[in-house]
Amino acid sequence: MNLTGQLSEVKNFINGKFERNGQKEMDVINPSDGSVIATLPLSTANDVDKAVQAAKNAFPSWSMMTFKERVQIFFRYRTLLENNMDELTKLVQLENGKIYSEAKAEVEKSMELCEFAVSIPQIIVNEVQEVSNGVECRIERKPLGVVASIAPFNFPNMVPHWTMPNALVLGNTMVMKPSEIVPLSTVRMAELLKEAGLPDGVFNLVNGGKEVVEAICDHPDIKAVSFVGSTKVAKIVYKRATSTLKRCVALGGAKNHLLVFPDANPEMTASNVVASMSGCAGQRCMAASVMVGVDKIQHIIDRMVEDAKQLIPGENLGSVISEAAKERIEGYISEAEKNGAKILLDGRNTTVAGKEGGFYVGPTIIDYVTTDMSVAHEEIFGPVISIIRAKDLDEAIEIENGSNYGNAAAVFTQSGGLAKQVMERASAGMIGVNIGVPVPREPFSFGGWNESKFGVGDITGRSSIEFWTQNKKTTTKWNPEAQTNWMS
Ligand code: NAD
Repeated sequence: MNLTGQLSEVKNFINGKFERNGQKEMDVINPSDGSVIATLPLSTANDVDKAVQAAKNAFPSWSMMTFKERVQIFFRYRTLLENNMDELTKLVQLENGKIYSEAKAEVEKSMELCEFAVSIPQIIVNEVQEVSNGVECRIERKPLGVVASIAPFNFPNMVPHWTMPNALVLGNTMVMKPSEIVPLSTVRMAELLKEAGLPDGVFNLVNGGKEVVEAICDHPDIKAVSFVGSTKVAKIVYKRATSTLKRCVALGGAKNHLLVFPDANPEMTASNVVASMSGCAGQRCMAASVMVGVDKIQHIIDRMVEDAKQLIPGENLGSVISEAAKERIEGYISEAEKNGAKILLDGRNTTVAGKEGGFYVGPTIIDYVTTDMSVAHEEIFGPVISIIRAKDLDEAIEIENGSNYGNAAAVFTQSGGLAKQVMERASAGMIGVNIGVPVPREPFSFGGWNESKFGVGDITGRSSIEFWTQNKKTTTKWNPEAQTNWMS
């Protein structure tokens, strides 16, 4: 993949071959300086169909391979991720605009996800029981067939690894659609899978936008769709995929609340809250978006402002994804200001010398936000935190519970009792206690509540094993001479 500044041509990867068939195209932009780095094919339903046929043809032999054989490929693939770490990191930076350490952490997480995938044979031990004299029942997990995965822009390397390794190790074959905004990391993923020895057709890549997603939802030979992106699109995909009777899990957007109590450790809390709101320029579905400050927490807010001032766009704070994203984020800040909120730190109108074409928003802290303001309840997806003041625990919980979303929530306190109350009462799928980005590590699974996720189960960890498989129940009778009807 090109890191040399030369324009690269993104291709689809179907049946083990890279191809581009004269589809319409769009530019891929480097958000840190606004330059065009690649062109992308806007694939059609025909391209999806071709990829599905390849995946369908590959399914019988792939699913008949032993776990051991499939897993060996993923041991090699994980090593390839490690051996190519620097290049993969720079590719994420190039297309997404995050800083080197964040991009590297993303690739390292992809390695961890592969480590979970190769451990799946240790986790899945099928069940067997003698249910009557000479009669055994057994349950085995079987793959579904051709499955699909649709990804967002914010983790070009990691999110595709939430789905691909587990689904494939479990014997499925896959069609993946990366975000059209960040397609390069997934192309490299296809190259490395081939190098690791993955048979042709097991993993296929179709680039493009809405048309590809719709074709995936509608295709009769796709059995399951996993989606990660905004709530608006998650709803569309969930409805459309399930209306053609597919299994679907669709992860949506977020508005994560961090509840901060006066007894919280000030340094640790301030640095955690600032890291959570600003990491990956706030473009994480686990980012802190609202801080609910309970009672007297001014000393913590003062520290947060000092910590956030250390974030320098273009140095230790990456760009946001596009001009439109920058405008949207700045619009939210201006609206909050107009409605009476107090801007303690203002990231609007940020430019980086030498990268004037890049899309930067500086760290922004908005105080005295009220629940009726858009910054209190809409996803901003930028390095911005809104502070809402609450008088006590009940009011803080009410504010958190009032969100339509429910990805993550966190509490900062030194009181076990307060922490327990928030753990019990917050309406979110992932809870942090003195942790600003509470991502559960495998084998625990990742997934939110409310409008942050549609469908049953989560996307990673043990829960994903359920999603990517179906149970086969077999009843056998080994002593025909017994002549007994076991049902009687
Ligand atoms: P997005 O919803 O715009 O795009 C996601 C995918 O859907 C892309 O592949 C895109 O091509 C496709 N798409 C876009 N519009 C479509 C339409 N109208 N019909 C069909 N398909 C369409 O999301 P994004 O901007 O790429 O990513 C950011 C969003 O993803 C944020 O809301 C963020 O919170 C969310 N996200 C959630 C999680 C999670 O775990 N819940 C993780 C990462 C990102």
